[in-house]
Amino acid sequence: MEPVIVQRSDHSLSRENISPEALKVLYGLKEANFVAYIAGGGVRDLLLGRQPKDFDVVTDATPNEVRRVFRNSRLIGRRFRLAHVFFGRDKIIEVATFRANMVPEPVEASDDSEPSDPPDGAAANPHHVRRDDGMIVRDNLFGTPQEDALRRDFTINALFYNIRDFSVIDYVGGLQDLSDRVIRFIGDPGLRCVEDPVRMVRAVRFAAMLGFDFEPATAAAILEHHGKLALANRSRLYEEVQKLFFCKAAKRAYELLREFGLYGMLFPELDSWLGPDRGTLECRRISEALSQVDEWRQAGREVSPALLFALMFGGMHEAKAGELADQGQHRGLALHSVTMEHFGGLTERVQVPKMVRFRTAEILASQPRLTADGGRRARPLATRSFFPEAVAYLEFMVRLTGENRETLEHALAIPWEPRQERYGADGDDRRRPRRRRRSRVFRPGNEPGPEAT
Ligand code: ATP
Ligand code: MG
Repeated sequence: MEPVIVQRSDHSLSRENISPEALKVLYGLKEANFVAYIAGGGVRDLLLGRQPKDFDVVTDATPNEVRRVFRNSRLIGRRFRLAHVFFGRDKIIEVATFRANMVPEPVEASDDSEPSDPPDGAAANPHHVRRDDGMIVRDNLFGTPQEDALRRDFTINALFYNIRDFSVIDYVGGLQDLSDRVIRFIGDPGLRCVEDPVRMVRAVRFAAMLGFDFEPATAAAILEHHGKLALANRSRLYEEVQKLFFCKAAKRAYELLREFGLYGMLFPELDSWLGPDRGTLECRRISEALSQVDEWRQAGREVSPALLFALMFGGMHEAKAGELADQGQHRGLALHSVTMEHFGGLTERVQVPKMVRFRTAEILASQPRLTADGGRRARPLATRSFFPEAVAYLEFMVRLTGENRETLEHALAIPWEPRQERYGADGDDRRRPRRRRRSRVFRPGNEPGPEAT
């Protein structure tokens, strides 16, 4: 298949908008006589005039060859399929070899999790054959540029930018779809959903984020196959859920998820509690909560996964805890247990890390305390690591209900003095050294216990 090649004079993608690090990698590969393209979201976003999140480089060099071109690189991933080129402490350009296989790898717990294969890819991998002319002969690992384009999810995500002549290479009609503003699966839409159900959530993300429509067969396939999301890898779904709700178009994403039946696959309990009607007060509350998240994100404010879940689940949890409170239970405790119980079922679908679950519970459970006596009992909460998120939650509730304005002022004026950080602001507990946790006691109405009592 001959690709459409658009020369430099006929497209809007300018090198000025490519990061200097990505350019260094592209030129380094080119000078070593390898093919070097930018692929995926980077090309898409530059052509749309958006700032790309990162630049992924693809090449015909094997990972080992990449390693030899750049001293500042190392091989990562299962069987060392990728190379990371490092610049300074935290700038990384990911370099992948053109790939043929269609089904993506599951998310890996750690880059180095499976060091069993020897790092010498070409020699150690008997399937990989490079012809004399440098062309990689097809195997189930590496492939041609065309195969690499065809294995990708959507046409707009499969464009290449060629550093050799600054042209854009299009094997799949992605340029047309960018200009028509549509999300279209590459290949057979039903098959692509079945192969990797996470792609359905990705479709929603790109549609929401870019304000694109779905090409009809793509939409029909998602509607037909939404139930297959139950089979998806739970850690990958957690990753995608975060990307989805932090893409600055979370409200739109939520509406699309509901339309396609995907929301119920991700959050079954909440979805059935909401019921099929989209206009109810509770549905609108979630829309409002997600608009709030979008506004914060657009203003450059960090929103943690725990705050996101607190905002999204708050309505249901407050209603359920309210019933328990009516039966005499302490409201804060009830909010805590309702939240933990909900996550218990939810993690069968979406692998929310334990620390994020706890933190969500704490944000919600602290609300009665935060608002008691017009905020006069809130001060001890300011020693807790989740205090800013609890106040942010209150900020949203004030906006939603118009109540507790003065209480919020009061809370905002309290300096946050965390006694001991137990987990990072993003709620990710994996990077922290393991420490034995003793039983945690939530003590309503008392001084809050130390973080790890
Ligand atoms: P973002 O700007 O959010 O990073 P992106 O398009 O770069 O969006 P990534 O998740 O970073 O998305 O993936 C990079 C590229 O890899 C995609 O553009 C797509 O071509 C390909 N890709 C990612 N996930 C899949 C998948 N599940 N199936 C097929 N191709 C995929
Ligand atoms: Mg990306």
